[in-house]
Amino acid sequence: MTDNTADITEKNTLENTEEEKTQESKPKKFQTLRGFQDLLPEFQDYYTMIKKSVRHRGRQSGFKRITTPIMEETGVFSRSLGESSDVVSKEMFTMESRSGKLMTLKPEATAGIMRAYIEHGMHTLPQPVQLYSIEPQFRYDRPQKGRFRQFHQANFEVLGIKDASVDAQLIHMSYKILEDLGIADRVDIQINTLGSAGNREEYMEALRDFFFDKSQHLSEESQARLKTNPLRILDSKDEDDQILVSMAPKLKDFLSEESKNYYETVKDYLHALNIPFYENEGLVRGLDYYCDTVFEIWDKSQGAQNAIGGGGRYDGLAELLGGQPTPGFGFAMGVERIIGHMKDAGIKPESKDKVHFFVAQLGEEGKKKALKITTNIRDLGYNAIGGMGKSSMKAQLKMADRSGARWAIILGEIEVRENKAILRDMHLGKQEIISLDNIEQTVIERLNN
Ligand code: AMP
Repeated sequence: MTDNTADITEKNTLENTEEEKTQESKPKKFQTLRGFQDLLPEFQDYYTMIKKSVRHRGRQSGFKRITTPIMEETGVFSRSLGESSDVVSKEMFTMESRSGKLMTLKPEATAGIMRAYIEHGMHTLPQPVQLYSIEPQFRYDRPQKGRFRQFHQANFEVLGIKDASVDAQLIHMSYKILEDLGIADRVDIQINTLGSAGNREEYMEALRDFFFDKSQHLSEESQARLKTNPLRILDSKDEDDQILVSMAPKLKDFLSEESKNYYETVKDYLHALNIPFYENEGLVRGLDYYCDTVFEIWDKSQGAQNAIGGGGRYDGLAELLGGQPTPGFGFAMGVERIIGHMKDAGIKPESKDKVHFFVAQLGEEGKKKALKITTNIRDLGYNAIGGMGKSSMKAQLKMADRSGARWAIILGEIEVRENKAILRDMHLGKQEIISLDNIEQTVIERLNN
């Protein structure tokens, strides 16, 4: 375990000590780790809706799905995101394998996807290679509203081509997904250009010179950033830092003609696609691998605090991971944050978990029949529950009501003896007697009428 990474086992042990003391005699009741959460059925309904839009928009634009492992060799992330990035310096869940190799739970998707692109020789495929993923990510962040240690991201990457049209198309796609989910009007798109790696180097040098004799006026965090990555000072929320930043050299004065033209073209294309955006010179993104276009999707009311997504161009990343030069552009959106917005906007996802039939029964014979009817209905493609337990008919009908089933099929002892059942419309409260012969067909017909 390295010093600057999170030790899952250690943390777990420390946090549980108090609780264990008070419950010496009782078996311990376990809870999720801090910053981790169970994804309960309500979350899944939202998640399904988000996945649907992600898949739909991905397919529409020729993307294929990829899933990289939950863990990678630590270098995959430390080398690509940069040692000075917040993610690498303090947010990675890193552990040592039995053989002493450092492994990290993925904190973001792009590095792993690029590793896979190189490992599988995808440069030999027709370019660009367009991949999307929707998966959990892990960061040892301080948990708070919208900030978890395990969270989920939808991610799109276009590898093997540099064209301003790709940048614009992906920003457009991120906006379309938010439109599908009904929250596009709650976000602002912020864009900036970081220029080429060379432009950035020169600019960082200029920032180092500028802050050299002013560093004592910078916040502690920015003083550290001055040493590791002065670009990140532009990101600072500290007011004094911001005043100094306003006087500091501007990145746009260091951009090559090529980078300037590229950025102008991206903006032109965004206008052509009617995507509203704000230019934000302070937007640098936290990771080292970005160049040229970067963008973020901000919460209109909270700005960068609760960003919904972000991404950009990363033309130098493949080489950092031992591959041949491969341009790339990608973005990620946070599922939990999207869900937060959907809830605030009163958007309710449609659930496919609706129960069509509840089968209630009394007696051993009734139970056998109920079992058969329930499973037959399922085989015919409808949702049915029942044939369980030994509760009274009243209690079962309560269960039927709670299950949200449209119809209850009631198999009382007398009905079963007479080869009959009661079919009750749970919405209208009406019921009728039907024959047990071909009962599945009868009830499905009623449902469809
Ligand atoms: P980033 O690459 O850090 O900008 O992350 C992309 C998106 O992932 C963010 O805009 C958030 O929506 C989401 N995200 C990042 N970190 C977290 C976290 N700790 N908890 C929840 N969502 C997160």
